[in-house]
This record gives sequence, C-alpha cells and structure tokens, in this order.
Amino acid sequence: MTEPLPTGATIGILGGGQLGRMLAVAAARLGLRSHIFEPGPNPPAGDVAHAVTTAPYEDEAALRAFAGSVDVITYEFENIPTSALDLLEHLRPIRPSREALRISQDRFSEKTFLCDLGLQTAPYAAVDDAASLSKAIAETGLPAILKTRRFGYDGKGQARLVSPDDAAQALKDMANAPAILEGFIDFTHEVSVIGARSAMGDIACFDPGENLHEGGILRTTTLPASLTPSQRSDAILLTANILNKLDYIGVMGVELFVTRQGLIVNEIAPRVHNSGHWTQNACAVDQFEQHIRAVAGWPLGDGRRFADVVMENLIGDDMGRVPALASEPGTALHLYGKADIKPGRKMGHVNRIKPRS
Ligand code: ATP
Ligand code: MG
Repeated sequence: MTEPLPTGATIGILGGGQLGRMLAVAAARLGLRSHIFEPGPNPPAGDVAHAVTTAPYEDEAALRAFAGSVDVITYEFENIPTSALDLLEHLRPIRPSREALRISQDRFSEKTFLCDLGLQTAPYAAVDDAASLSKAIAETGLPAILKTRRFGYDGKGQARLVSPDDAAQALKDMANAPAILEGFIDFTHEVSVIGARSAMGDIACFDPGENLHEGGILRTTTLPASLTPSQRSDAILLTANILNKLDYIGVMGVELFVTRQGLIVNEIAPRVHNSGHWTQNACAVDQFEQHIRAVAGWPLGDGRRFADVVMENLIGDDMGRVPALASEPGTALHLYGKADIKPGRKMGHVNRIKPRS
C-alpha cells in the first residue's frame, strides 16, 4: 500500500474498547470508515463504527471476511493472538508492523530492544522459577518489581519485592507465567511522549505529558510537564529514535521515568495511549487522528499544543461526578458509553483546558 487511502476507504481496527472508539471517531472525521473486530459483546467502539464483527480471534472465517472488507488493519491493544495476525498479514497491511507488536508484547524483548538502541531501562532479568528469581535478585538488587512478561496492563500482573523473603509469594502471584524482574527506579516523576511516524517516514511528537498513577492506574496527565528544555528534547529525540528503528507507521506511547541520572524508558506501547488523551482538546490534530492519518498513508497533521491541560481519567464510581463535570467551565468531557460501572474500570476522561502559560 503506497498511495494514501481515499475518503470512503475502511480502516480495520482489532479491539473495540475506548481507544478503538476514539480512533473510529477520528477516522469518521476524515471521511474514512472503520470496521471493528472484537470478541466481546457491545464494544464501546461499535457505537461509532461503520461495521462490527463479533467473533473470537480464533475464528478464521470471520478474520478472512473482516480482512476482505477493509483496506488496512490496525489495532488498539497489544495482546492480539499471534495466530490471528499470522492469517491477517497475508491479506491486508497491518500498521504498526508485526515487528513493533512482537517486541512490545513481551517486556523482556522490549527492554532488550531498548538497550540495544543505547537507551536506559531499569536493570532487568528473566524469571521462570525460584532459581532464576534468586539469580535475578542478585543482578537487579532490591527493592524490585516482578512483572509478567506478557499481558500486563494498569499495573496488573505485578508484585513488589522488598526483601528476599518476598520471593516465594511474588512467584506465586505470577502463577507460573514467564516473568521479568525489574530493579526499582527511584524516579522524581513520570512522563510520556506520544510520537507518530507516517508511511513516508515523517515524525511528529506531541509535547511530553506528566503522568500520575494511583493504584497502578493512570490518574492524570498534566501539560506542560516539569522538564528542563534539554530533558524535553531528549524525550522527543529518543522517541523518534525508537520510531525510526522500527520503521514504524502509526502512533506510539513511550513511558519514561525522570531521574537525576536522566530519562529511563519504562515501556513502549505500539498504539494510541491513555496519556495522550489530552491532545483531543489542546491540539489541532489529536493522537487518534494522527494514528489514522499514518495508517491511511496520509501526511501527519499539526500536533502542536496550544493550551495547558490536565487530563483526568474517570474510573469506576467517578461516573457519579459526570453531572457536575458536564457544567464545569473549561472542561471537555469524553465518555466511553460503557454500561457497567466497575471499580478500576476506565469509564471516560475529562480534559481541563487553560490558556498556554
Ligand atoms: P499501564 O497499562 O498503566 O502502562 P502496566 O501494567 O503496563 O501499566 P508498568 O507501566 O510497567 O505497568 O507499571 C505501572 C507503574 O508502576 C509505572 O507507571 C510506575 O509508576 C510503576 N513502576 C513500574 N515499573 C517500575 C520500576 N522498575 N521502578 C519503579 N516504579 C515502577
Ligand atoms: Mg505503563
């Protein structure tokens, strides 16, 4: 696929959560259609898409029909089964590439890739059993965090180790899943860069945002982040470096720890990212449109930030605050249309805007 997709073309999106929903809205704004593939019933993205396929990722006939009805395939989450991608990649281009997905699906290969690029990560070691865990503790030191290599999100699949006595329980928490031990980083704060790379190889990065987590879940992203001018350019340059190395097409989130020794890469996400939701109300072209543009072979748009902004996630019972938020000045409300309110479930977010300082 070398020519930009014409309006009326269809973007296939694997996954039907809120990220898929906001991608579909961005596609529609550009005159493109979207087709959602999602195993679960009533996906949030389904409300705003041209078509929805409800089928498991193991359903080959459904995957083939989906591929036949779209012009390009993208995804809104990283944990898509390999077998589905093996089938789809012969039928339609997948953007971002399978290589980007493969690397970021596994925390061990992700860290190895980042270190090979010359970037700093937490000290890490693979853990499969009690013996490799005690060896890993010797390498990384304590405190440390044991994380599953795959399928982690919102801090799930993680256990903290303060003393060697915590090892047995931490291993038990992993339920024998392959894991990685990471030395604990003494950071001052966390930031992330949302970067985009087009099919032509152009790169545009949004201004880094400062992220606050509560209970392992992102709570707020604040712009501007507290960074020196040189830290800000470091963050953007290292993101561009990662995008180029992967020959990446689309939007990527790069999570960073800010320390006195410089920026340490926590993880990369080959998709639009929760910490980029602020772009919806503080930039002419937001992360969702930027991703759709890249995937559709269009030029990237203007992602300069024109306002200061705080994005706050609405999680679980925060939904009770919606009536008050709906009438709050300077506040843009984004709700995902999820029927069930559950603790820890991301239900929506607000962007609070102020003139740029
Ligand atoms: P998300 O889906 O929110 O990105 P995740 O499940 O992929 O989360 P991580 O990003 O690895 O998990 O970790 C979640 C948070 O835990 C980090 O943002 C950071 O606050 C803390 N954390 C993770 N790894 C480390 C580390 N090595 N040292 C210190 N803190 C850490
Ligand atoms: Mg993270």
